[in-house]
Amino acid sequence: MTLSPEAIKRRADYDGDSPFPEAVHDFTASRFQIGLTAALVVIPLAALGAGVWLAWGNGLALHDLLLAGVLYVVTGLGVTVGFHRLLTHGSFTARPWLRVALAIAGSMSFQGNVVDWVAIHRRHHAFTDRPGDPHSPYRYGTSLRGQLRGLAHAHLGWMFTGDPTPAARYAPDLLADPAMVKVARAFPALSAGSLALPFLAGWAISGSLYGGLTTFLWAGLIRVALLQHITWSVNSLCHVMGSRPFRTRRHDRATNLWPLALLSFGESWHNGHHSEPTCARHGMDRHQIDPSAGFIRLLERLGWAEAVRWPDPHRMESRRSGASE
Ligand SMILES: [Zn+2]
Ligand SMILES: [Zn+2]
Repeated sequence: MTLSPEAIKRRADYDGDSPFPEAVHDFTASRFQIGLTAALVVIPLAALGAGVWLAWGNGLALHDLLLAGVLYVVTGLGVTVGFHRLLTHGSFTARPWLRVALAIAGSMSFQGNVVDWVAIHRRHHAFTDRPGDPHSPYRYGTSLRGQLRGLAHAHLGWMFTGDPTPAARYAPDLLADPAMVKVARAFPALSAGSLALPFLAGWAISGSLYGGLTTFLWAGLIRVALLQHITWSVNSLCHVMGSRPFRTRRHDRATNLWPLALLSFGESWHNGHHSEPTCARHGMDRHQIDPSAGFIRLLERLGWAEAVRWPDPHRMESRRSGASE
């Protein structure tokens, strides 16, 4: 993104409460882009309604839920451990095959291709809650109306604004990695596979087309919708409500939100994460359940993950709000 000298000056003057300068002149994406994004968001959501309606009195097979659970965990860890902790922040190094496997798993979550995901998320950390942040809930200021509009923007509205994040600037390491470029190019095919897999499995298990369709609904569309909204809630809710036990950079208002800990695989310990972004564990305190960190620990024991950046207790204590500098 190129900025005019006035825009740069306005950024330097930013007070943390008023709307972002670029919020005044919203960018608009192309119709195709808006249509595609809307389809990716609305179809899984509509499927949730259809799913409940279908399941009502028609029974919902156990294998539908089991497959939904398995795919939720596989694609969810692909995003949290692969896209986020490994590829965005380099919290550990992984064997090449594991790196690719995690990137493939994350690509099956309908959250965009791996290169763009990483670029956008790095930009979020570079400009957290100030002008330049692709999805800050503070974009429209801190009035009640601005905050509500900001939450909608941070949750999913930001995907509908044509505000591209240049991968060449934010993710040159991934662009230089042929394996990652390949996975990124395969994103449409992996998305299709993410839905075809449950359909075919359901068809094979139940022996009927109808059985295939119910599995497609629950383990395909509804599973995608749930993970999308949990991930987006980290962008929206986890910058507005919850606790802030650790100090973060100026303007950065990331919070810890315990109710989302399990479903988000530990990503809702977002204040801990913004305080120490390269750390492999986001739940810094003992009782803060962090399944992604548990999975990284398992990979480390198996010898597949190395150079894991575990939290340094002394450093974290010094970063606690109220602790002396
Ligand atoms: Zn954040
Ligand atoms: Zn991050």
